[in-house]
Amino acid sequence: MTPYQHSVSLNSEKCRGCTHCLKHCPTEAIRVRKGHAVIDAARCVDCGQCIRYCPHQAKKAAYDKLSDLPKDKWKIALPAPSLFGQFDNLDDIDYVLQGLLDCGFDDVYEVARAAELVSDYTRRYMKEKSPVLPVISSACPVVERLIMLRYPALVEHLLPILPPIEVAASEARREALAKNPKLKSEDICVVFISPCPAKVSYVKNRTLENKSGVDFVISISDMYFELLGVMKKTDDSGSISKTGRIGLSWASSGGEATAIFNEKYLAADGIENVVHVLEEVDNGAFPELEFIELDACSGGCVGGVMNVLNPFIAKARLRSLRRYLPVSQNWGDLSETKVPDEVLVHNDYHYESVSSFGSDREESMRMMSRMEEIFKGLPGIDCGSCGAPTCRAFAADIVRGNASIDGCPMLWHKDKEENKEET
Ligand code: SF4
Ligand code: SF4
Repeated sequence: MTPYQHSVSLNSEKCRGCTHCLKHCPTEAIRVRKGHAVIDAARCVDCGQCIRYCPHQAKKAAYDKLSDLPKDKWKIALPAPSLFGQFDNLDDIDYVLQGLLDCGFDDVYEVARAAELVSDYTRRYMKEKSPVLPVISSACPVVERLIMLRYPALVEHLLPILPPIEVAASEARREALAKNPKLKSEDICVVFISPCPAKVSYVKNRTLENKSGVDFVISISDMYFELLGVMKKTDDSGSISKTGRIGLSWASSGGEATAIFNEKYLAADGIENVVHVLEEVDNGAFPELEFIELDACSGGCVGGVMNVLNPFIAKARLRSLRRYLPVSQNWGDLSETKVPDEVLVHNDYHYESVSSFGSDREESMRMMSRMEEIFKGLPGIDCGSCGAPTCRAFAADIVRGNASIDGCPMLWHKDKEENKEET
């Protein structure tokens, strides 16, 4: 299997080994070894929490730069809906869309338009396919990967429909070819403007058979500063935007779930809440629910680390932008009840165990009981001084041969105190 390509990485020169990031990683993927943080690639879900919490800017997200875009291609910008929430006093999305064209893009296709189509396909899927309930949205790549790494029983709950970014890429390409008969597919370059590193990783890790239609991913923050320089106050562009309230609502937590038109839903945001809900659902809680939307970032995609603005302000701005929009401008084919085959996800979801011990059941049991034994002897205060996020994680590292009991300074301190008392 091709190794997972991550967009979050560490600049060890900046890392001071302070352990702040350890405590906030939802998958316990970080250890501090020899004074520097180390990320376990198998466990990392590219949520960006460590970028948010590192006080020394030692964690960073990798994405494409505007200067990387090929000059000779037909460039289509796919702005994420959260981009529109970043600007002061914006009363018309068209200013931003025209700004993208003025920045050198040949065309724009709002991801919010594709989100409205995905909402339509989800409604059809819930009616048509008798899915395993509750259906869990697969639109946030962090949630999708978290489930595949930690919750094998929930894999079959994932919504098997392509996320808006992918639907947008293929619709944008299709529209461009229809409008410009001289263009060929290979002349087109699709550029997603992203709020978070997880979507960069999503694009990089689409497999060879299921290659992403997105060619480059740039950050909302980079695009924002380019746009500030070109956006005009007056709109002489005519109408460009083709999205409605539903599409824009996808930028904030609850937007996707409310568009299902089914009251039996739950929407949660922020990685700690997401993990909490997944634990509960895994234990059989909420049997009455039919749909769950989970967003790893606080507030939804407006909370992604590649945005510029505080998520709550961005959310308020989007709310006022939505006011005069129609409910949706992309209902799909209303006479159609089936989900188009080309948007269904086949064979993409599978469990990848990263926390199991040993190669067989017997060895596993032996290692687990050894871990419990070591854990009982540790102080249990989860101080992080050993370089692991918790005493339990430290005990697991020892059993796996990745750490030694001498790494616990508290035990060493305790021994010293006891020896002092004896003498
Ligand atoms: S928060 Fe993590 S990455 Fe940042 S300096 Fe501290 S240990 Fe290093
Ligand atoms: S990106 Fe998220 S999962 Fe990966 S190391 Fe950072 S906090 Fe952990």
